[in-house]
Amino acid sequence: MNVPDLINSVPTGLWLNGRATPSESGRTFDVINPATGEVLASVANATPADATAALDAASAVADEWAATAPRVRAEILRAAFEAVTARADDFALLMTLEMGKILPESRGEVAYGAEFLRWFSEEAVRIGGRTATAPAGTGEIAVVKEPVGPCLAITPWNFPLAMGTRKIGPALAAGCSVIVKPAEDTPLTMLLLAQIFADVGLPPGVLSVLPTLDAPTVVGGLMADPRLRKVSFTGSTGVGKILLAQAANNVLRTSMELGGSAPFVVFDDADLDKAVDGAMLAKMRNGGEACTAANRILVQNGIREAFTTKLTERVAAMRVGPGWDAESAIGPIINAKQRGSIAALVDEAVAAGATVRTGGKPVDGAGFFYEPTVIDGLPDDARIRRDEIFGPVAAIVGFDTEEQGVAMANDTEYGLAAYFFTENVGRAQRVARRLQAGMVGVNRGVISDPAAPFGGIKQSGLGSEGGSEGIEEYLNTKYIALPPV
Ligand code: ADP
Repeated sequence: MNVPDLINSVPTGLWLNGRATPSESGRTFDVINPATGEVLASVANATPADATAALDAASAVADEWAATAPRVRAEILRAAFEAVTARADDFALLMTLEMGKILPESRGEVAYGAEFLRWFSEEAVRIGGRTATAPAGTGEIAVVKEPVGPCLAITPWNFPLAMGTRKIGPALAAGCSVIVKPAEDTPLTMLLLAQIFADVGLPPGVLSVLPTLDAPTVVGGLMADPRLRKVSFTGSTGVGKILLAQAANNVLRTSMELGGSAPFVVFDDADLDKAVDGAMLAKMRNGGEACTAANRILVQNGIREAFTTKLTERVAAMRVGPGWDAESAIGPIINAKQRGSIAALVDEAVAAGATVRTGGKPVDGAGFFYEPTVIDGLPDDARIRRDEIFGPVAAIVGFDTEEQGVAMANDTEYGLAAYFFTENVGRAQRVARRLQAGMVGVNRGVISDPAAPFGGIKQSGLGSEGGSEGIEEYLNTKYIALPPV
């Protein structure tokens, strides 16, 4: 499909009761193409009253949807998987247009994002329970699983499809209705997905999508409504803490996928080429705009200069340009504000004495591009060694011993992903256990897999998405006490 036809095929209203609907306020907001700074489309801007309408719908259908046969829910998810896959090129181009990532990465996200629909269609029919005889023989213990009820899913802009399907898939599989509040920068992908769910027969009201420029008020209203039973959030730790505080009022179930500061540790005994390949993926994939992105590249001093030289060559060769251009290896940053915060981290580090090996500046001209960058020689107190960079900047720091490398890796309030490279099996087992992270990659630069539990510890979050763990986040455990047989 060409771009105008594609944009025209995307619903631009709020998704309410199974169709695109204007906001009750009549207001809209613009979605910007970050590669050009131009307006792609205008979408309805939800108000708190619109959010109440979505929760009315989610509540009205909750019992009926919870009572549908698991096989029926599974078949709808499977059909949605097939439909997204059939329109993979459209979804990929749409994500490239609204978020900026290069097309091959958008295609990768379509495959990854759709897989959550297939995976959870398979999980829907495997929701178990258990029975046991009470040890004293006084009765039978039956344990059953029930859907938690209406859910709110709040998603970020960096993976516009997958962060939605990773929540919608298990919610629908478990029998929950769900309201999605997509990121304001990238609402189009989620609206197209909602259309697809309607096309494959999801009953109206079970899924709503509320784009809004006023997330705090719209979400705040939903969080205060006792009919909402669960919130699943992917985004910054700061917003996660606000939501956790709000969730406390009604004692909501929560799943939180928050910020990260992934260490990427290269030991002297690593395979250098594998480590550089891994760093390119862990750092530069998605333009570095991933909560799992390598944030602190820690390299043992014996291999540090060789690693830095090779990585610098690879990064310097990356062509920056619009994501739809086949020549581009890296697209724009999502918006001017985000680019500004990346630039500030680099500029501060450089002012404090760090060395730019390549890149280090915003790209002049239209769009929000930033040069892929490698810097080293970072002072101990450089902010870039603590804060989440969320951009294509590889910040390299040396260390001497395994002990020191692990201690530096763990020296953060975050605990999402960690990566390390070594060819020594004993070290691999030891370090994997000692790293304080919810996910550890051994000699790998990409770890996400719909069949594996994704989640962080420390201030990176609560709960897991994906894997057999993912559906549990949408199920309550009920114990039924039966009389003795
Ligand atoms: P990022 O820094 O990646 O934009 P945010 O945590 O700010 O991460 O945003 C992630 C999601 O959280 C987005 O959908 C955004 O609209 C939403 N959001 C931001 N602030 C709030 C808030 N106060 N309450 C609820 N949702 C919010």
